[in-house]
Amino acid sequence: MERVIAVDLGGTNVRVALVSEITGELIKKIVALTKTGGSSPLLIADDITEKIRQLTTPQELKEIRGIGISSAGPLDLRKGVLLNPPNISFPSVPLVQPIREALDLPVYLINDCRAGVLGETCFGAGKGCENVVYITISTGIGGGAVINGKLLLGRDGNATEIGHFFVDTRYGIRCGCGNYGHWEGYASGKNIPLFFRQWCDSEAHTDVAFDGSTSESIFAAAKNHDPLALQFIEALGEINGRGISNVIVAYNPELIILDGAVVQYNQNYIVPYLKKNIDHYLTVPEIVVSTLNGLAPLLGASVVARGWHCLKSQ
Ligand SMILES: [Zn+2]
Repeated sequence: MERVIAVDLGGTNVRVALVSEITGELIKKIVALTKTGGSSPLLIADDITEKIRQLTTPQELKEIRGIGISSAGPLDLRKGVLLNPPNISFPSVPLVQPIREALDLPVYLINDCRAGVLGETCFGAGKGCENVVYITISTGIGGGAVINGKLLLGRDGNATEIGHFFVDTRYGIRCGCGNYGHWEGYASGKNIPLFFRQWCDSEAHTDVAFDGSTSESIFAAAKNHDPLALQFIEALGEINGRGISNVIVAYNPELIILDGAVVQYNQNYIVPYLKKNIDHYLTVPEIVVSTLNGLAPLLGASVVARGWHCLKSQ
């Protein structure tokens, strides 16, 4: 049986798993806190190498076909490095080369959202589909697209940075990237409270009867039938509907798979509201919520471990 190592490197946790290439079964898995700080840019690569050695016997390691790493961006896929990672004080953190040299195995790196769409098309709701967009709404908004059966990467692997689609002129909110009106600036978990404040100001709502300082508290108020929170959920649905409409005209998918904490914990307050705000210029695809329990990027890393769909590392 062919097996691969999959790594999902996040800002908080790193997951390392031995995975069956055919079925996507996680044979064994380690979850640990992502290394931060330290005096060497090799800190993260060394930690992943050590975890792979902990996870596998020498015999298992010998039989492994490759290692796939999915990581939050920005990344330089050709050089196999993380660029300006938030929790480590080096502008460039090499991953691919040191792990490849330490373990003498092929190592492939991919952005976590691009990994997500591969996980879904191989093992999740996208199985058997040729045109799929995977959208994650969590701290940020990201996406991955398989179109005509091929993963879209673009020049630098950033072809589906959909969180920076333009969606609004009304509220003038600035995105973390510095530009105004971007989807992520309004509808990501981190920015929903900001949009809520701006929406209250613009609509002259001064009668807020709940704590609106976190997205959780806003959704909790909506679940308690607070009329103002429900009105805001409508406004959020308009923004998400415009984001999804952009996705539809950009990629013409047959299936859109939604994932990420904001969607997973608040499905009834996100999905129907965005659906009713979608433009009907093109055929509206089926829209579903991921059922892979947050494992789509890790499973996608197991797919790239076979050497598929990657820009060639130098
Ligand atoms: Zn932006």
